[in-house]
Amino acid sequence: MCGGKTFYLETFGCQMNVHDSEKVIGTLLHEGYRQVETVEQADLILYNTCSIRDKAEQKVFHRLADYKKLQAEGKKFGVLGCVAQQEGEKIFDRAPHVSLVCGSASYRNLPQMLEQLETAGDTASHPSRKERGLSGAPTLTDPHDSRPRTQDSPLVRITGLDDRATDKCFETEYAARTNPHRGYITIIEGCDKFCAYCVVPFTRGKERSRTSDSVLAEARQMADLGYTEIQLLGQNVNSYKDPQGKCSFAELLAAVGEVPGIKRLRFTTSHPRDFGRDIVEAIDAVPTLCDHVHLPVQSGSNKILDAMQRLYTREAYLERIAWMKSAGRHIAITTDVIVGFPAETEDDFMQTLNLLDEVGYDGIFSFKYSPRPNTPALKLDDAIPDEEKSRRLEVLMQRQKEIQIANYKKYIGTVQEVMVEGKNDARNQWIGRTTQNKTLNFTVPDAQVPQVGTYVKVRTIQSFPNSLLGELVV
Ligand code: SF4
Repeated sequence: MCGGKTFYLETFGCQMNVHDSEKVIGTLLHEGYRQVETVEQADLILYNTCSIRDKAEQKVFHRLADYKKLQAEGKKFGVLGCVAQQEGEKIFDRAPHVSLVCGSASYRNLPQMLEQLETAGDTASHPSRKERGLSGAPTLTDPHDSRPRTQDSPLVRITGLDDRATDKCFETEYAARTNPHRGYITIIEGCDKFCAYCVVPFTRGKERSRTSDSVLAEARQMADLGYTEIQLLGQNVNSYKDPQGKCSFAELLAAVGEVPGIKRLRFTTSHPRDFGRDIVEAIDAVPTLCDHVHLPVQSGSNKILDAMQRLYTREAYLERIAWMKSAGRHIAITTDVIVGFPAETEDDFMQTLNLLDEVGYDGIFSFKYSPRPNTPALKLDDAIPDEEKSRRLEVLMQRQKEIQIANYKKYIGTVQEVMVEGKNDARNQWIGRTTQNKTLNFTVPDAQVPQVGTYVKVRTIQSFPNSLLGELVV
């Protein structure tokens, strides 16, 4: 136990990381730490990192550099998550004041690591690999070996990938969920797809699913605690394979959606290759499944999809879109797009623009391609100038904005059920989220005060490119 120790944790990246941070926070609280709001108040400063894009990775090192001076006050620094996994010991070369490096598969070992930090007591900088006379690529220690390293850097704990297919990969015992109404459940970790641009298979390891029994047990436990919305998570959530062989992903969706008390069930992120028609049928059949699917396409050009090693064609992707559009419910569709992938021509880019029109997405996350360590695309010539990538991104976002303006307009006059998420005091508006994952802000009559976490009906009166405005239906 660590007495009155405090920690500060900043999270970068995706929902998987947000949920991992909830597990880290839960573990630290259980170990006697107290969470604080600022770096200055903390004894232990942690960054849960993302390495999907270079920008996100750089941000972490900037943070570490900015706060390095606080080491003189005895503060300790830790790097968690994907950059920790990807960079390993190299982190100590770039930021020698870091005392702890821990990959996402090893958070269940955090109590021992914290003990090491506590007992070693020495917060002096670690010598870099060079200073220690080490050369060559840094090595990762065996992830299954929890013995402390005692050589020249006693506080260092490097963790490898944990590819074991066990429910322990999904340690949730101490998850400190930040929202009391809506919570995440990780059902599958890692990725076997190896898209040419992506670091995830190298940072999160092989695909491994959690048993459906364990997922359902956690869903029931959450419902008992008052959660009404659950989001199932996985890098490729729909590649889920029940180790017990009891159910498919679509059947798991139905089973979790039928847990008494659950009003909304979401899942993200889906991979187009593994997206079966049974998922759409489950959405149609189970009222608690939300009317929203995030299906990353990345490019509208078959040539680029092939170079990206995405394992599907534009035609196969559009077939899945057609299934959703023919569903009984109005399923909102969102996606991810990368522009400027090596060898993307103007014609390839136009095919992506044309795909946006054809699908009529409700939202997209778009990015410029940036080379990432270890990825197959590093071998390709990243010859498209950054200005050209920026131009394509701008054109893409403008086109999508027009599509969204038209899409959002269609909601004017409709009544939507929203979960109340909070209040924007400055605007005197309440914030709601629809089943289609749209933000629907709303006003209420003076005497009414909606409870956060409840579900209310709202009549839509105005639309914007990214949100709706309405009034509470009394
Ligand atoms: S499917 Fe591709 S983009 Fe998604 S996590 Fe796996 S390798 Fe990365």
